[in-house]
Amino acid sequence: MAAFLLLTAMAVMGINAWTLWSSWQQRITEREEDARNLAVSLAKQAEDAFLQVDITLSDAVRQLTQQGPDYAKTEAFSRQLKEQHGKLQQLHGLFIYDAQGNWIATSGNYIPSKGSNADREYFVWHRSHSDTSVHIGHVIRSRSTGEQVIPVSMRLNDSAGHFAGVALATVKVDYFRQFYGYYTLGARDVLGLILADTTVLYMRPLPDSVINRSLSASPLFRIALKTSASGSATWRSALDGIERIYGYARLEQYPLVVTAGYDRDRVQKAWLETNLTDVVLNLILLTMIMGMGVFILKQIRANVRNQLELTQVRDELTTINHTLQSMALIDGLTGLANRRQFDVVLEEGLQRSKKTGEPLSLIMIDIDFFKRYNDTFGHVAGDMCLKKVGGLLKGATHRHTDLVARYGGEEFAIILPFTSAPDARQFADRAVKVIRDAAIVHTSTELPERVVTISAGCGTIISNGEDNEAELLKKKADNALYHAKRNGRNRAQGEI
Ligand code: GH3
Ligand code: MG
Ligand code: MG
Repeated sequence: MAAFLLLTAMAVMGINAWTLWSSWQQRITEREEDARNLAVSLAKQAEDAFLQVDITLSDAVRQLTQQGPDYAKTEAFSRQLKEQHGKLQQLHGLFIYDAQGNWIATSGNYIPSKGSNADREYFVWHRSHSDTSVHIGHVIRSRSTGEQVIPVSMRLNDSAGHFAGVALATVKVDYFRQFYGYYTLGARDVLGLILADTTVLYMRPLPDSVINRSLSASPLFRIALKTSASGSATWRSALDGIERIYGYARLEQYPLVVTAGYDRDRVQKAWLETNLTDVVLNLILLTMIMGMGVFILKQIRANVRNQLELTQVRDELTTINHTLQSMALIDGLTGLANRRQFDVVLEEGLQRSKKTGEPLSLIMIDIDFFKRYNDTFGHVAGDMCLKKVGGLLKGATHRHTDLVARYGGEEFAIILPFTSAPDARQFADRAVKVIRDAAIVHTSTELPERVVTISAGCGTIISNGEDNEAELLKKKADNALYHAKRNGRNRAQGEI
């Protein structure tokens, strides 16, 4: 029972632990999928935003290549830039620089006469790279408005293919700030736009101080992106040290990466809240089962103990009963059969005699001058003498069916089944001799032997089933005893 209880408890706890563990694993998997899906859709959004800018820039570059650099200074081109600017929300501005970095056209209203952007990273890049594809740089502050912008630029070539300047589109960081703000997320969940060179362009909701920080130490660049262009994993942020479940996706056309990260602690807390009731209920159930089990166990123990006690009491009672039974049938002084047993055995003997037709003999014995013995030696000695005589008579019998009984006082009776009258007489003679030969000193006896002697009278019967046969047999033996006494004692008298 105890083993069963233990097994049940272990099974319940095991199943619970396993269920909880798999539910947590499932929750993580779900969150990873969510994060990945979010990252992929944000990547698509970023891709579109930059593609529109790319198309606009390509358009301007194609026109300037076809029409020559001076076309940039025309009213028509300026109007066109303004129109393009108006169409694209993400656009902060469009700018054309000549080979020296001087502004020659802008979608804005103002062109500084002495402003050179030759020091800007994108300018240096295009001057030294003949590549005509779009280039995306780190976040800078616009020199015209002070806004944080992402420079997207293209190289301008003259007809000979030499560097002729740069066409620049600046994309507002606020555009992403606003867009990422549409998502309902936890306070510590993040959405980030990152350059493929590991530089953060924008990371919601972290402060702007993380902009332009390098994520080269992050598992995103060390592991995740090396294995696949999009996916999910859990890692600790290189920026704020918070562990998140991240989804990530690299853009197909542009060197950009988008990440979406869910605060792992918050995911865990939410999971715990939904599972806590189950856990508590299960624990209560387990406690109840255990309580019931312990209660039943105690009951079983008590029952077993009670049963053992009952068995013990029953055994004791049986022993007492046996003792009582034997006490009821045995004479306390001599240990011989008592009068009650004598009567029962005599009755059985008569029945057997009737059945078999065999004779049944009875010898009645009385100690001679026993009153005097008592008077001389006292009652205690008298009792000892009775005991001795009883033992000697018992010792004189040979068959286990013979019964020596104390008939009463100093009188004994011997039942001899299957014994004829002559055989009984012979036995009685032997008994008389045995007592005399024992030579128990009796100084006050009237007999010359000066020892304890007995007189014995015999009776024999073959039963024919009559009622008073026991009385008859006793009378016969008694009568014979009377004769033995009258004829001088210390002798046996056969049936008369
Ligand atoms: P007799 O039979 O030879 O005629 O003489 P007796 O002295 O034996 O006479 P009787 O049979 O009348 O006396 C019986 C005596 O046996 C009386 C009593 O003192 C003694 N007696 C009977 N029962 C007991 C007993 O249990 N213990 C002792 N110590 N004495 C007993
Ligand atoms: Mg007597
Ligand atoms: Mg006597």
